[in-house]
Amino acid sequence: MAAEARVFVGLGSNLGDRVAHVRFAMHELARLPRTRFVASSPWYRSAPVGPGVQEDYLNGVAELRSSLAPETLLDSLQRIEHAAGRVRTLRWGARTLDLDLLLYGVHQQASTRLTLPHPRIAERNFVLFPLSELAPSLRLPDGSRVQSLRARLDAAGLRRVGMNPEALHAAA
Ligand code: ATP
Ligand code: CA
Ligand code: CA
Repeated sequence: MAAEARVFVGLGSNLGDRVAHVRFAMHELARLPRTRFVASSPWYRSAPVGPGVQEDYLNGVAELRSSLAPETLLDSLQRIEHAAGRVRTLRWGARTLDLDLLLYGVHQQASTRLTLPHPRIAERNFVLFPLSELAPSLRLPDGSRVQSLRARLDAAGLRRVGMNPEALHAAA
């Protein structure tokens, strides 16, 4: 795939040194071949939704330009998760690092391995709040505006940390 796509990646960590994990992820994203790191969103602290007792998440979104194919990019994201010590256990269990491919330009596909856009964007405040601050005029491939989708959600369980993930502990 030669043309560069505008790509958004959702970052989350709720295990171990959450700040170090998202910093590591951004560093690794910036080093991917045929990919440029454009910007990161403000960071949010969010209440976990998965099973059992878990720490709050640190969540944010990164914008990239990439000419890697979507599946190649997903492979790279999973390698970075693995390098950050992620161990796959329960669905939605605690994890050191979660990297979701939210959007790959206007590309749409649905397979078990990769669905684009990420199927749960519209229902997640911890995705839509940072995403709509990072890219206020962005639309999903179906034409819906991220600003409008965000306006339908409340901020339950969500606290804005700020531009630096290091402020996580101040946003208790
Ligand atoms: P959720 O997808 O609800 O955010 P999760 O991030 O906890 O849940 P994972 O265990 O990280 O889910 O991923 C499960 C599988 O989802 C991955 O192995 C991957 O193949 C698949 N998947 C499908 N679409 C995507 C996507 N857009 N981004 C990342 N993974 C995806
Ligand atoms: Ca996820
Ligand atoms: Ca994931």
